[in-house]
Amino acid sequence: MAEVQKILVIGAGAMGSQIGMACALAGYEVTVQDISQDGLDRAESTLRGLMDSRVERGRIPAQERDDAFARLSLTTDLEAAAAEADLVIEAAVENLDVKRELFTRLDALTPTHAILASNSSSYVPSRLAEVTKRPAQVCNIHFFNPALVMKCVEIVRAPDTSDDTVSAAVALVERLGKQPVVMDKEINGFIANRILNAIRDEAVFLLEGGYASITDIDAACRTALGHPKGPFELQDMTGLDIGYATKQGRFEESGDPSDAPSKSLTERVQAGHLGKKSGQGWYRYAQDGTLLGEA
Ligand code: NAD
Repeated sequence: MAEVQKILVIGAGAMGSQIGMACALAGYEVTVQDISQDGLDRAESTLRGLMDSRVERGRIPAQERDDAFARLSLTTDLEAAAAEADLVIEAAVENLDVKRELFTRLDALTPTHAILASNSSSYVPSRLAEVTKRPAQVCNIHFFNPALVMKCVEIVRAPDTSDDTVSAAVALVERLGKQPVVMDKEINGFIANRILNAIRDEAVFLLEGGYASITDIDAACRTALGHPKGPFELQDMTGLDIGYATKQGRFEESGDPSDAPSKSLTERVQAGHLGKKSGQGWYRYAQDGTLLGEA
């Protein structure tokens, strides 16, 4: 397998932009492609702000920032960018139809040696591998948000993913200075989010059964388990709608009622109480984000 030199990142949103920057900082030639020129412009100005602030805080020399930007290009032209890629990281919207169409096109447009990876948070790689003629070269490379900061990267293999593909993904993640974690067998949600989900489910069970309050469940997770935030606080930060969609997606896939969103989560989402961003979720917040108490 050829050494990875040129990386194509699809999608310049929250994840794709920072994944692209992380790869450019590690010395790769990177193209970030998006269907929206506005999205690319926004990504570039956000990345410039982030990197300028790192330089100002003395975290990296100005030259390192400038060299990384010199290796990073942004484009709407998928065809040209794909023709050069050794490895693709797809970070477009979380929609299986969009991803399957992209993988079909990437299979036709990239060199035959290229690895096609998805940053999907939930879709298993076999759903994408099956639309290509190179299933051995397909896997998930799943970053956490924010990708420039978070250390863990999950590499998920589908049944047909080759050892060479997994080794190349591990080598990439290590070169980014991050921690690769390999899943030997694919399952929806992968490792970290499945464990997080199990903690959330237990927290909701304790709440709905009247065993303890939201505040005390969060306090136990912080002070006994050493979690930086309790499960309710964390979900208020990330958005109850996101947690709801994750549970709903898993329920639709498994048909197992224990995977369905809980009653208390569903009620809140239906009432538009989505967490900090809407002023109320499991807790209530003032306009400036100050915690006011349980909702
Ligand atoms: P986002 O909405 O911020 O960005 C998605 C980008 O994809 C947009 O700029 C959009 O214009 C672009 N896009 C849509 N269709 C496209 C296409 N056909 N070709 C090229 N670009 C296209 O989304 P995000 O939060 O960056 O998430 C991207 C992926 O990363 C998703 O699969 C998501 O599950 C995964 N992910 C997200 C997080 C997170 O916390 N946000 C964490 C890990 C993984």
